[in-house]
Amino acid sequence: MPHIQLVVVQPTPFCNINCRYCYLPDRSNNAVLADETIANLFSQVFASGWLQHGLTVVWHAGEPMVLPIDFYRRAFRLIDSLKPAETELTHAFQTNGTLIDDAWCAFFTEADVNVGVSIDGPKRLHDINRRSRSGHGTFDKTIAGIRRLRERGVPFHVISVLSAESLAVPREMFDFYVSEGIDRVCFNVEESEGGHVSRSFGETGIEDSYYNFLREFWRLAAAAPGKFGFIREIDDATRLVLRPKEAVFFNQLVEPFAITSMDWAGNIATFSPELLGLKSAEYGDFILGNINRDKLTDMAAGAVLQRMRRDIDAGVELCRERCDYFSICGGGEPVNKLSENGSFVSTETTYCRMSKMRATDLVLDLIELMGNRVGELADTDIRNLGAAPLATDVVAAVPVN
Ligand code: SF4
Repeated sequence: MPHIQLVVVQPTPFCNINCRYCYLPDRSNNAVLADETIANLFSQVFASGWLQHGLTVVWHAGEPMVLPIDFYRRAFRLIDSLKPAETELTHAFQTNGTLIDDAWCAFFTEADVNVGVSIDGPKRLHDINRRSRSGHGTFDKTIAGIRRLRERGVPFHVISVLSAESLAVPREMFDFYVSEGIDRVCFNVEESEGGHVSRSFGETGIEDSYYNFLREFWRLAAAAPGKFGFIREIDDATRLVLRPKEAVFFNQLVEPFAITSMDWAGNIATFSPELLGLKSAEYGDFILGNINRDKLTDMAAGAVLQRMRRDIDAGVELCRERCDYFSICGGGEPVNKLSENGSFVSTETTYCRMSKMRATDLVLDLIELMGNRVGELADTDIRNLGAAPLATDVVAAVPVN
């Protein structure tokens, strides 16, 4: 039986900006998700018996904040009216931050929304790729939004897409976050997806650049205790490497419906959320059905899902047989295998070599250097490893490749 953990909802495909690395083909379409479609999705999700613990709903577009706050007030009330009392539900927004004002801050607080803002570093780095529709940099508006969140006391994290330029300057990135009071950061790499071919992936030595960036960033963070509450790539790699033997790794991206994505028209996809908007010569599209016409339970038994599942499972088995990193990855991201290798039935990608292998190498190199102090460290809260004073000198000693 599937276990839904995350529902990704596209309230509109429209985005008010036009990033150079965006792969979404429909970002000029200003269609809006109907209340009826929201009701059809959530009534089926709650009735499916596929929820285990809580549920996170991510509002991800396009740009979710191009819709008025009242759209979300209504949507949240509707979802709440359908939700069983015992189900814990959290809403999250991923936004470019350019439209954040006091009214949005008040709404985020009132509805207890987890807010993620996309910003790629200081102005000179951010504006390389994150451009307005007229081609101008969007940094000034994004940083104004972030400052507003801070002034209003709204917790948030940032996601920064690392380019070849930013990978070369970890100190500048670090100083930027510290100067803006940003203490929760997630790093993405510019991926090849859909029609977009990553500029970064074409750079010679990009995987070592990623390793060296993380190493230096970690060293700086460890030397400045209290400045960072969360550095996703380091915290996740550390947690996975040092987890108890009996803790089974669950890869949401290869489990049907663990992540369930719906576009504004009610079309449903699963596995990697990016598959919702993609097409391929082999599969056509990756739409399992439409929530306004079809039952989720029928989609689970449908031919589209069965074929994808067969191929994704075969790719996972290849990873299990061939890859030393399988225990911390679980067979990776189907969308990256398809986009880079042309098939789900494949293993390594540039994406996984960077985000999985090199991040894990860094933690393993650190552990080797720490020698028998790891036992002592494992008894502490390992999530805090990056900021632990114990780690400071050791992180600094991790060799540069
Ligand atoms: S790191 Fe890459 S090759 Fe290894 S299991 Fe993950 S996706 Fe497969």
